[in-house]
Amino acid sequence: MKKYINQDVLLTGDSTLAFSLNHEANKKRKNGEKVVNATVGSMYNSDGELACFSLIDKYLKNEKLNSSRAYAQIDGGSKFNRNIQKWILDRNYEYLIKKYNVSSLATMGGTGALSICFKNYIDETVFLPSIGWSNYELIANFFNKKINYYSLFNNEGNLDIEGLIETIKIEKKNLKKITILINDPAHNPTGYSLSKDEWKKIIRELNEINKETPVVLLLDVAYIDFAKENRNFFEIISDIDMDFLCLVSVSLSKTLGIYGYRLGSLIYIGKANEKEEFLTSSKIFVRSTWSNPNHLAIKAFNYVFNDENNVILLKQFLKNNIDELARRAEKVINIYNEKLGGLPLTYKDGFFLTFKKDDANEFALKLKNENIYVLPLQNKYLRFAVCSYLGEEN
Ligand code: PLP
Repeated sequence: MKKYINQDVLLTGDSTLAFSLNHEANKKRKNGEKVVNATVGSMYNSDGELACFSLIDKYLKNEKLNSSRAYAQIDGGSKFNRNIQKWILDRNYEYLIKKYNVSSLATMGGTGALSICFKNYIDETVFLPSIGWSNYELIANFFNKKINYYSLFNNEGNLDIEGLIETIKIEKKNLKKITILINDPAHNPTGYSLSKDEWKKIIRELNEINKETPVVLLLDVAYIDFAKENRNFFEIISDIDMDFLCLVSVSLSKTLGIYGYRLGSLIYIGKANEKEEFLTSSKIFVRSTWSNPNHLAIKAFNYVFNDENNVILLKQFLKNNIDELARRAEKVINIYNEKLGGLPLTYKDGFFLTFKKDDANEFALKLKNENIYVLPLQNKYLRFAVCSYLGEEN
Protein backbone atom coordinates (compact mmCIF):
# COMPACT_ATOMS: atom_id res chain seq x y z
CA MET A 1 0.00 0.00 0.00
CA LYS A 2 1.57 3.28 -1.10
CA LYS A 3 1.17 6.26 1.15
CA TYR A 4 0.90 9.22 -1.21
CA ILE A 5 -0.25 8.15 -4.67
CA ASN A 6 -3.93 7.36 -5.34
CA GLN A 7 -4.36 3.58 -5.33
CA ASP A 8 -6.55 3.43 -8.46
CA VAL A 9 -3.88 4.91 -10.75
CA LEU A 10 -1.56 2.03 -9.92
CA LEU A 11 -3.82 -0.49 -11.60
CA THR A 12 -3.35 0.58 -15.22
CA GLY A 13 -0.36 -1.70 -15.91
CA ASP A 14 2.55 -1.27 -18.28
CA SER A 15 2.01 -0.03 -21.83
CA THR A 16 5.63 0.78 -22.53
CA LEU A 17 6.91 -2.64 -23.59
CA ALA A 18 7.59 -1.56 -27.20
CA PHE A 19 9.75 1.32 -25.95
CA SER A 20 11.78 -0.82 -23.54
CA LEU A 21 12.33 -3.55 -26.16
CA ASN A 22 13.51 -0.91 -28.61
CA HIS A 23 15.89 0.52 -26.04
CA GLU A 24 17.36 -2.92 -25.36
CA ALA A 25 17.74 -3.70 -29.09
CA ASN A 26 19.46 -0.38 -29.77
CA LYS A 27 21.84 -0.85 -26.87
CA LYS A 28 22.90 -4.24 -28.24
CA ARG A 29 23.34 -2.77 -31.71
CA LYS A 30 25.53 0.00 -30.32
CA ASN A 31 27.68 -2.66 -28.72
CA GLY A 32 28.26 -4.13 -32.15
CA GLU A 33 25.79 -7.02 -31.99
CA LYS A 34 23.76 -7.97 -35.07
CA VAL A 35 20.15 -7.14 -34.17
CA VAL A 36 16.78 -7.18 -35.96
CA ASN A 37 14.60 -4.50 -34.39
CA ALA A 38 10.94 -4.49 -35.46
CA THR A 39 9.45 -2.94 -32.33
CA VAL A 40 9.13 0.80 -32.98
CA GLY A 41 5.97 2.28 -34.49
CA SER A 42 7.68 5.09 -36.41
CA MET A 43 8.71 5.24 -40.07
CA TYR A 44 12.48 4.93 -40.56
CA ASN A 45 14.41 5.49 -43.80
CA SER A 46 16.56 2.67 -45.08
CA ASP A 47 19.59 4.56 -43.69
CA GLY A 48 18.15 4.27 -40.19
CA GLU A 49 16.93 7.88 -39.81
CA LEU A 50 13.40 8.82 -38.76
CA ALA A 51 11.54 9.67 -42.00
CA CYS A 52 10.51 13.32 -41.68
CA PHE A 53 9.06 15.37 -44.55
CA SER A 54 11.98 17.59 -45.65
CA LEU A 55 10.01 20.85 -45.78
CA ILE A 56 9.33 20.63 -42.05
CA ASP A 57 13.07 20.84 -41.39
CA LYS A 58 13.41 23.64 -43.94
CA TYR A 59 10.67 25.58 -42.21
CA LEU A 60 12.15 25.09 -38.75
CA LYS A 61 15.59 26.28 -39.90
CA ASN A 62 14.15 29.52 -41.24
CA GLU A 63 11.44 30.12 -38.66
CA LYS A 64 11.81 33.23 -36.53
CA LEU A 65 11.07 31.39 -33.33
CA ASN A 66 9.72 34.41 -31.48
CA SER A 67 6.49 34.27 -33.52
CA SER A 68 5.63 30.82 -32.21
CA ARG A 69 6.58 31.52 -28.62
CA ALA A 70 3.16 33.05 -28.14
CA TYR A 71 0.24 30.80 -27.30
CA ALA A 72 -1.59 29.38 -30.31
CA GLN A 73 -5.33 29.70 -30.72
CA ILE A 74 -7.05 27.00 -28.70
CA ASP A 75 -8.53 25.32 -31.78
CA GLY A 76 -5.33 25.80 -33.82
CA GLY A 77 -6.74 28.74 -35.85
CA SER A 78 -8.79 28.95 -39.05
CA LYS A 79 -5.83 28.38 -41.38
CA PHE A 80 -4.89 25.12 -39.66
CA ASN A 81 -8.48 23.91 -39.67
CA ARG A 82 -9.07 24.68 -43.34
CA ASN A 83 -5.80 22.99 -44.26
CA ILE A 84 -6.39 19.85 -42.21
CA GLN A 85 -9.96 19.43 -43.46
CA LYS A 86 -8.79 19.84 -47.06
CA TRP A 87 -5.98 17.34 -46.56
CA ILE A 88 -8.10 14.64 -44.95
CA LEU A 89 -11.27 15.03 -47.04
CA ASP A 90 -9.10 15.53 -50.11
CA ARG A 91 -10.98 15.58 -53.42
CA ASN A 92 -14.33 15.33 -51.60
CA TYR A 93 -13.64 18.40 -49.45
CA GLU A 94 -15.83 20.97 -51.26
CA TYR A 95 -18.71 18.54 -51.56
CA LEU A 96 -18.56 17.17 -48.02
CA ILE A 97 -18.44 20.56 -46.28
CA LYS A 98 -21.71 21.41 -48.06
CA LYS A 99 -23.34 18.03 -47.53
CA TYR A 100 -22.50 17.72 -43.80
CA ASN A 101 -21.72 19.93 -40.86
CA VAL A 102 -17.95 19.88 -40.63
CA SER A 103 -15.78 21.35 -37.91
CA SER A 104 -12.35 20.63 -36.41
CA LEU A 105 -9.63 21.62 -33.99
CA ALA A 106 -5.93 20.97 -33.47
CA THR A 107 -5.05 18.40 -30.82
CA MET A 108 -2.06 16.98 -28.98
CA GLY A 109 -1.49 14.25 -31.58
CA GLY A 110 -4.02 11.58 -32.44
CA THR A 111 -3.97 10.56 -28.78
CA GLY A 112 -5.30 13.99 -27.81
CA ALA A 113 -8.09 13.74 -30.39
CA LEU A 114 -9.08 10.28 -29.12
CA SER A 115 -9.03 11.48 -25.53
CA ILE A 116 -11.56 14.21 -26.36
CA CYS A 117 -13.79 11.61 -28.06
CA PHE A 118 -13.57 9.16 -25.17
CA LYS A 119 -14.41 11.85 -22.61
CA ASN A 120 -17.17 13.66 -24.52
CA TYR A 121 -18.76 11.11 -26.88
CA ILE A 122 -18.93 7.79 -25.01
CA ASP A 123 -21.85 7.28 -22.69
CA GLU A 124 -20.83 4.22 -20.67
CA THR A 125 -19.38 1.79 -23.17
CA VAL A 126 -17.14 1.94 -26.22
CA PHE A 127 -16.92 -0.79 -28.86
CA LEU A 128 -13.28 -1.55 -29.64
CA PRO A 129 -11.68 -4.02 -32.08
CA SER A 130 -10.58 -7.30 -30.47
CA ILE A 131 -7.07 -6.58 -31.76
CA GLY A 132 -6.06 -2.95 -31.64
CA TRP A 133 -3.81 -0.20 -30.38
CA SER A 134 -3.38 -0.82 -26.65
CA ASN A 135 -3.70 2.87 -25.76
CA TYR A 136 -7.46 2.71 -26.48
CA GLU A 137 -7.81 0.62 -23.33
CA LEU A 138 -5.71 3.03 -21.31
CA ILE A 139 -7.77 6.02 -22.45
CA ALA A 140 -11.05 4.19 -21.78
CA ASN A 141 -9.86 3.28 -18.28
CA PHE A 142 -8.67 6.82 -17.69
CA PHE A 143 -12.17 8.16 -18.35
CA ASN A 144 -13.91 5.26 -16.56
CA LYS A 145 -15.53 3.91 -19.73
CA LYS A 146 -16.39 0.26 -20.17
CA ILE A 147 -15.11 -1.68 -23.19
CA ASN A 148 -17.01 -4.08 -25.40
CA TYR A 149 -14.87 -5.84 -28.01
CA TYR A 150 -16.02 -6.73 -31.51
CA SER A 151 -14.12 -9.50 -33.28
CA LEU A 152 -11.96 -8.10 -36.02
CA PHE A 153 -11.80 -10.86 -38.62
CA ASN A 154 -14.16 -13.47 -40.03
CA ASN A 155 -13.03 -16.90 -41.28
CA GLU A 156 -12.06 -15.45 -44.66
CA GLY A 157 -9.71 -12.98 -42.99
CA ASN A 158 -11.87 -9.95 -43.78
CA LEU A 159 -13.40 -7.53 -41.30
CA ASP A 160 -16.22 -9.38 -39.56
CA ILE A 161 -18.97 -6.86 -40.38
CA GLU A 162 -21.80 -9.27 -39.47
CA GLY A 163 -20.13 -9.98 -36.12
CA LEU A 164 -19.60 -6.29 -35.48
CA ILE A 165 -23.24 -5.38 -36.16
CA GLU A 166 -24.45 -8.41 -34.16
CA THR A 167 -22.34 -7.34 -31.16
CA ILE A 168 -23.82 -3.83 -31.34
CA LYS A 169 -27.39 -5.12 -31.70
CA ILE A 170 -27.07 -7.42 -28.68
CA GLU A 171 -25.80 -4.58 -26.49
CA LYS A 172 -27.97 -1.85 -27.98
CA LYS A 173 -30.93 -2.23 -25.65
CA ASN A 174 -28.76 -1.40 -22.63
CA LEU A 175 -27.18 1.69 -24.17
CA LYS A 176 -28.28 5.31 -24.64
CA LYS A 177 -25.65 5.82 -27.31
CA ILE A 178 -23.53 3.50 -29.46
CA THR A 179 -19.92 4.65 -29.74
CA ILE A 180 -17.77 2.45 -31.92
CA LEU A 181 -14.13 2.86 -32.80
CA ILE A 182 -12.78 1.76 -36.17
CA ASN A 183 -9.10 2.19 -37.00
CA ASP A 184 -8.87 2.42 -40.78
CA PRO A 185 -7.06 2.40 -43.17
CA ALA A 186 -3.85 0.48 -42.33
CA HIS A 187 -5.14 -0.79 -39.00
CA ASN A 188 -2.68 -1.06 -36.13
CA PRO A 189 -1.46 -3.80 -35.60
CA THR A 190 -2.67 -5.90 -38.58
CA GLY A 191 -2.40 -3.54 -41.56
CA TYR A 192 -5.97 -4.28 -42.67
CA SER A 193 -7.73 -1.62 -44.79
CA LEU A 194 -11.44 -1.58 -45.57
CA SER A 195 -12.63 -1.60 -49.18
CA LYS A 196 -15.30 0.80 -50.47
CA ASP A 197 -17.85 -2.02 -50.47
CA GLU A 198 -17.10 -2.88 -46.87
CA TRP A 199 -17.52 0.76 -45.84
CA LYS A 200 -20.81 0.99 -47.74
CA LYS A 201 -22.12 -2.03 -45.83
CA ILE A 202 -21.02 -0.68 -42.45
CA ILE A 203 -22.48 2.78 -43.08
CA ARG A 204 -25.84 1.35 -44.17
CA GLU A 205 -26.01 -0.88 -41.06
CA LEU A 206 -25.03 1.97 -38.74
CA ASN A 207 -27.65 4.23 -40.39
CA GLU A 208 -30.29 1.63 -39.45
CA ILE A 209 -29.10 1.39 -35.83
CA ASN A 210 -28.95 5.20 -35.63
CA LYS A 211 -32.72 5.37 -36.28
CA GLU A 212 -33.29 3.99 -32.78
CA THR A 213 -30.10 4.75 -30.84
CA PRO A 214 -27.66 7.56 -31.69
CA VAL A 215 -24.46 6.22 -33.23
CA VAL A 216 -21.05 7.89 -32.95
CA LEU A 217 -18.34 6.43 -35.16
CA LEU A 218 -14.84 7.23 -33.88
CA LEU A 219 -12.77 6.86 -37.01
CA ASP A 220 -9.08 6.67 -36.15
CA VAL A 221 -7.18 7.49 -39.35
CA ALA A 222 -3.73 7.64 -37.74
CA TYR A 223 -2.17 5.80 -40.72
CA ILE A 224 -4.35 7.28 -43.48
CA ASP A 225 -1.41 8.46 -45.56
CA PHE A 226 0.28 5.07 -45.63
CA ALA A 227 -2.41 3.08 -47.44
CA LYS A 228 -2.70 2.69 -51.20
CA GLU A 229 -6.49 3.30 -51.24
CA ASN A 230 -6.69 5.69 -48.39
CA ARG A 231 -9.83 7.83 -48.53
CA ASN A 232 -12.46 5.11 -49.12
CA PHE A 233 -14.61 6.20 -46.18
CA PHE A 234 -14.85 9.80 -47.46
CA GLU A 235 -15.61 8.61 -50.98
CA ILE A 236 -18.49 6.53 -49.67
CA ILE A 237 -20.05 9.22 -47.46
CA SER A 238 -20.00 11.43 -50.54
CA ASP A 239 -21.90 8.77 -52.53
CA ILE A 240 -24.38 7.69 -49.87
CA ASP A 241 -25.84 9.48 -46.85
CA MET A 242 -24.24 8.98 -43.46
CA ASP A 243 -26.98 9.71 -40.93
CA PHE A 244 -24.95 9.22 -37.75
CA LEU A 245 -22.08 11.27 -36.35
CA CYS A 246 -18.48 10.61 -37.34
CA LEU A 247 -15.51 11.98 -35.40
CA VAL A 248 -12.26 11.60 -37.30
CA SER A 249 -9.09 11.35 -35.22
CA VAL A 250 -6.01 12.47 -37.18
CA SER A 251 -2.34 11.99 -36.25
CA LEU A 252 0.16 14.23 -38.01
CA SER A 253 2.94 12.42 -36.17
CA LYS A 254 2.98 9.81 -38.89
CA THR A 255 2.06 11.82 -42.01
CA LEU A 256 4.79 14.41 -41.53
CA GLY A 257 7.18 12.36 -39.39
CA ILE A 258 6.86 14.79 -36.46
CA TYR A 259 6.08 12.33 -33.66
CA GLY A 260 7.67 14.42 -30.93
CA TYR A 261 5.96 17.69 -31.89
CA ARG A 262 2.56 16.28 -30.89
CA LEU A 263 0.13 17.54 -33.50
CA GLY A 264 -3.13 16.03 -34.64
CA SER A 265 -6.72 17.00 -35.19
CA LEU A 266 -10.27 15.99 -34.40
CA ILE A 267 -12.79 16.50 -37.23
CA TYR A 268 -16.56 16.52 -36.74
CA ILE A 269 -18.66 15.30 -39.72
CA GLY A 270 -22.39 14.90 -39.26
CA LYS A 271 -25.84 15.75 -40.47
CA ALA A 272 -26.77 16.92 -36.97
CA ASN A 273 -25.82 20.50 -36.39
CA GLU A 274 -23.99 20.10 -33.09
CA LYS A 275 -20.81 21.82 -34.30
CA GLU A 276 -21.08 24.52 -31.69
CA GLU A 277 -21.35 21.99 -28.86
CA PHE A 278 -18.52 19.96 -30.36
CA LEU A 279 -16.14 22.92 -30.46
CA THR A 280 -17.08 24.36 -27.09
CA SER A 281 -16.77 21.04 -25.25
CA SER A 282 -13.55 20.15 -27.09
CA LYS A 283 -11.99 23.52 -26.24
CA ILE A 284 -12.90 23.04 -22.59
CA PHE A 285 -11.14 19.67 -22.74
CA VAL A 286 -8.08 21.33 -24.28
CA ARG A 287 -8.02 24.12 -21.69
CA SER A 288 -8.23 21.66 -18.83
CA THR A 289 -5.53 19.29 -20.09
CA TRP A 290 -2.74 20.57 -22.40
CA SER A 291 -4.25 24.08 -22.50
CA ASN A 292 -2.90 25.08 -25.93
CA PRO A 293 -1.79 23.19 -29.03
CA ASN A 294 1.84 23.29 -30.20
CA HIS A 295 2.20 26.61 -32.03
CA LEU A 296 5.46 25.73 -33.77
CA ALA A 297 4.05 22.49 -35.18
CA ILE A 298 0.91 24.28 -36.39
CA LYS A 299 3.00 26.91 -38.16
CA ALA A 300 5.18 24.26 -39.80
CA PHE A 301 2.06 22.41 -40.93
CA ASN A 302 0.51 25.59 -42.37
CA TYR A 303 3.78 26.40 -44.17
CA VAL A 304 3.59 23.05 -46.00
CA PHE A 305 -0.03 23.59 -47.01
CA ASN A 306 0.37 27.25 -48.06
CA ASP A 307 1.77 26.20 -51.40
CA GLU A 308 0.34 23.62 -53.82
CA ASN A 309 3.87 22.65 -54.90
CA ASN A 310 4.73 21.70 -51.32
CA VAL A 311 1.67 19.48 -51.22
CA ILE A 312 2.81 17.73 -54.40
CA LEU A 313 6.19 17.07 -52.74
CA LEU A 314 4.44 15.75 -49.63
CA LYS A 315 2.39 13.35 -51.74
CA GLN A 316 5.58 12.09 -53.39
CA PHE A 317 7.25 11.62 -49.99
CA LEU A 318 4.26 9.60 -48.79
CA LYS A 319 4.10 7.55 -51.99
CA ASN A 320 7.78 6.58 -51.52
CA ASN A 321 7.03 5.51 -47.96
CA ILE A 322 4.04 3.43 -49.07
CA ASP A 323 6.20 1.63 -51.65
CA GLU A 324 8.96 1.07 -49.10
CA LEU A 325 6.49 -0.37 -46.57
CA ALA A 326 5.15 -2.80 -49.19
CA ARG A 327 8.69 -3.98 -49.95
CA ARG A 328 9.55 -4.45 -46.29
CA ALA A 329 6.26 -6.25 -45.53
CA GLU A 330 6.93 -8.71 -48.32
CA LYS A 331 10.39 -9.34 -46.95
CA VAL A 332 9.12 -9.91 -43.38
CA ILE A 333 6.47 -12.33 -44.62
CA ASN A 334 8.99 -14.25 -46.73
CA ILE A 335 11.49 -14.57 -43.89
CA TYR A 336 9.09 -15.27 -41.03
CA ASN A 337 6.06 -17.16 -42.29
CA GLU A 338 7.77 -20.51 -41.93
CA LYS A 339 9.29 -19.74 -38.57
CA LEU A 340 5.91 -18.56 -37.27
CA GLY A 341 3.83 -21.33 -38.80
CA GLY A 342 1.92 -19.50 -41.51
CA LEU A 343 0.93 -16.21 -43.04
CA PRO A 344 0.15 -13.12 -40.95
CA LEU A 345 -3.38 -11.78 -40.37
CA THR A 346 -4.65 -10.01 -43.48
CA TYR A 347 -2.11 -7.29 -44.25
CA LYS A 348 -2.87 -4.68 -46.88
CA ASP A 349 -1.00 -1.52 -45.91
CA GLY A 350 0.81 0.36 -43.26
CA PHE A 351 3.28 0.31 -40.42
CA PHE A 352 2.57 -3.09 -38.82
CA LEU A 353 1.84 -6.69 -39.58
CA THR A 354 0.84 -9.34 -37.08
CA PHE A 355 1.21 -13.10 -36.88
CA LYS A 356 -1.05 -15.25 -34.75
CA LYS A 357 1.10 -17.31 -32.38
CA ASP A 358 0.17 -19.38 -29.33
CA ASP A 359 2.22 -18.45 -26.25
CA ALA A 360 3.39 -15.33 -28.06
CA ASN A 361 5.16 -13.95 -24.97
CA GLU A 362 7.37 -16.99 -24.71
CA PHE A 363 7.99 -17.07 -28.45
CA ALA A 364 8.96 -13.38 -28.46
CA LEU A 365 11.45 -14.18 -25.71
CA LYS A 366 12.87 -16.99 -27.83
CA LEU A 367 13.26 -14.61 -30.78
CA LYS A 368 14.80 -12.01 -28.48
CA ASN A 369 17.46 -14.56 -27.52
CA GLU A 370 18.28 -14.74 -31.25
CA ASN A 371 18.45 -10.90 -31.25
CA ILE A 372 15.14 -10.57 -33.13
CA TYR A 373 12.96 -7.98 -31.39
CA VAL A 374 9.19 -8.00 -32.00
CA LEU A 375 6.22 -7.07 -29.81
CA PRO A 376 4.00 -9.80 -28.30
CA LEU A 377 0.32 -8.84 -27.94
CA GLN A 378 -2.26 -10.50 -25.69
CA ASN A 379 0.04 -13.56 -25.55
CA LYS A 380 -1.61 -14.50 -28.87
CA TYR A 381 0.04 -12.34 -31.52
CA LEU A 382 3.44 -11.11 -32.62
CA ARG A 383 3.59 -7.62 -34.10
CA PHE A 384 6.30 -6.67 -36.57
CA ALA A 385 6.77 -2.93 -37.01
CA VAL A 386 7.46 -2.96 -40.74
CA CYS A 387 7.98 0.80 -40.51
CA SER A 388 11.16 0.43 -38.47
CA TYR A 389 12.28 -2.97 -39.81
CA LEU A 390 15.44 -2.39 -41.77
CA GLY A 391 16.12 -5.95 -42.81
CA GLU A 392 18.25 -8.77 -41.54
CA GLU A 393 21.63 -7.44 -42.56
CA ASN A 394 21.91 -4.77 -39.82
N1 PLP B 1 -4.05 5.67 -33.29
C1 PLP B 1 -3.26 4.63 -33.52
C2 PLP B 1 -3.86 3.39 -34.07
C3 PLP B 1 -1.89 4.71 -33.26
O1 PLP B 1 -1.11 3.64 -33.49
C4 PLP B 1 -1.36 5.91 -32.74
C5 PLP B 1 0.07 6.02 -32.45
O2 PLP B 1 0.83 5.13 -32.41
C6 PLP B 1 -2.25 6.99 -32.52
C7 PLP B 1 -3.58 6.82 -32.81
C8 PLP B 1 -1.83 8.30 -31.95
O3 PLP B 1 -0.69 8.86 -32.41
P1 PLP B 1 -0.09 10.23 -31.90
O4 PLP B 1 -0.75 10.59 -30.62
O5 PLP B 1 1.35 10.00 -31.76
O6 PLP B 1 -0.42 11.23 -32.97
